[in-house]
Amino acid sequence: MERTTEELTGLLRSLVAKMKAYQHAQTVMYFDAATVAPPGSAEDRGKTLAVFSEVTYGLQTGEETGKLLSALRERTEELDPVTRREVSELWRDYERTKKIPMEEYVAYQVLLNEADAVWHKAKTESDWPAFEPYMEKIVAFNRKLAGWLAPEKKPYDALLDEYERGLTMEKCDAFFAVLRERLVPLIRQIAEKGKQPEDIFAGKDFPVEQQRKLSDWLMAAIGIDREYCAIGETEHPFTDGSSKHDVRITTHYYVNDPLSSLFSVVHEGGHALYELHVADGLQDTVLAGGVSMGIHESQSRFFENIIGRSRGFIRNLLPELRELFPAQMAGVTEEDLYRAANVARPSLIRTEADELTYSLHVMLRYELEKQLMDGSLAVADLPAAWNAKVKEYLGLDVPDDRSGVLQDSHWSGGAIGYFPSYALGSAYGAQLLAKMKESMDVDAVVASGDLTPVLDWLTERIWSKGSLYDPQVIFEQAAEAPFDPTYYTDYLIGKYSALYSL
Ligand SMILES: [Zn+2]
Repeated sequence: MERTTEELTGLLRSLVAKMKAYQHAQTVMYFDAATVAPPGSAEDRGKTLAVFSEVTYGLQTGEETGKLLSALRERTEELDPVTRREVSELWRDYERTKKIPMEEYVAYQVLLNEADAVWHKAKTESDWPAFEPYMEKIVAFNRKLAGWLAPEKKPYDALLDEYERGLTMEKCDAFFAVLRERLVPLIRQIAEKGKQPEDIFAGKDFPVEQQRKLSDWLMAAIGIDREYCAIGETEHPFTDGSSKHDVRITTHYYVNDPLSSLFSVVHEGGHALYELHVADGLQDTVLAGGVSMGIHESQSRFFENIIGRSRGFIRNLLPELRELFPAQMAGVTEEDLYRAANVARPSLIRTEADELTYSLHVMLRYELEKQLMDGSLAVADLPAAWNAKVKEYLGLDVPDDRSGVLQDSHWSGGAIGYFPSYALGSAYGAQLLAKMKESMDVDAVVASGDLTPVLDWLTERIWSKGSLYDPQVIFEQAAEAPFDPTYYTDYLIGKYSALYSL
């Protein structure tokens, strides 16, 4: 007997509940692995993850799932818009994941668990040869993956689409060309003529215990509800969100550089805010959560740079810093702090790069990934190619692989094609700011210390929508215009020309 639509949606709900339960457990396990799990636990966790991967693969691609989704697809007009979108997203996943052979899928999850542990150690010891064989396997898998997913596309295009639906090398090339053309001359000008501010933190220690208190203040300042968001400490800061009721961010404290953790917390806090504000009606659906990496990064980079490095935010931050670090901050003025937070100077580490030179870090990773995927660059030659590009774009020599090719966790995590979303996100953020300014005095709101109007604007236009629409649709609805990277370059040129009196 044929099932009713109500029965089918009931089955869908229990399938989604199972999928989300496994995802939840895997997310928590990942966070645990990165924070407090002892190093020797990696192997056992690998076994657990292999079992989990098999189950989630089965849930996504099993015969029952296929039948259920097919039946629901025949009745889309009877479904409410949220369920309709869920069915279409799950069907997309079903078709996609089915193309990946299960043994390969499971083996890859196990490989990534191992690679992550090896990378952590290799980074600490600046030991590229230890990580190289894992990178070989990760690149090889991603090339195969691209072939399974979209044999008609160039491999790197297939991967870009995984992180930002619709993104291609053609679009990236055009975008980076605008950045290169408009920003590289400005960076040169600053290097030649711009007077760099004095380093106000030189020779001072900022105890980690006090920096932890600063993190609490920052999270409150940007409006994070700690009831649903925790903070941990890891080598590489990240955000994990299982649902709007369980979001975790991490940071890394450096005793001699309080700004590093400060801006990491505000960056990850931006990711967290997005996850925390998904509409209640999407909770328990597969649409609960940020829609894409590009849109996610647009939120994190918006908070880190546009809010966090603004005059108003710095003005409110200064009294807090003076209270937590009275001796270290003695004699530091608001102008000193503002300039320290906005120094534009080529540097080696992407996550600590300033707002202006940041996109060059992304561009070099994009170009290397492109070459790795088209086969014109061998993994063994990656460190040398990395160092050459750092020299070309940033004018710097890379002293060791820890500050070079081993610095990011993306590749060890299996993510090839992720990086462009950072630059794209930064550019989305600048265009959203321009739109926001049409209806709000953003500077005055930030200076008031109460970000509610900004949070409300972003909740309504982006956060609450979760994954209800494609990323490009969500962006264009929010910005009320197609994407235009010149908002970003204009914003940077305006800001840095004033800072460096150019
Ligand atoms: Zn981020």
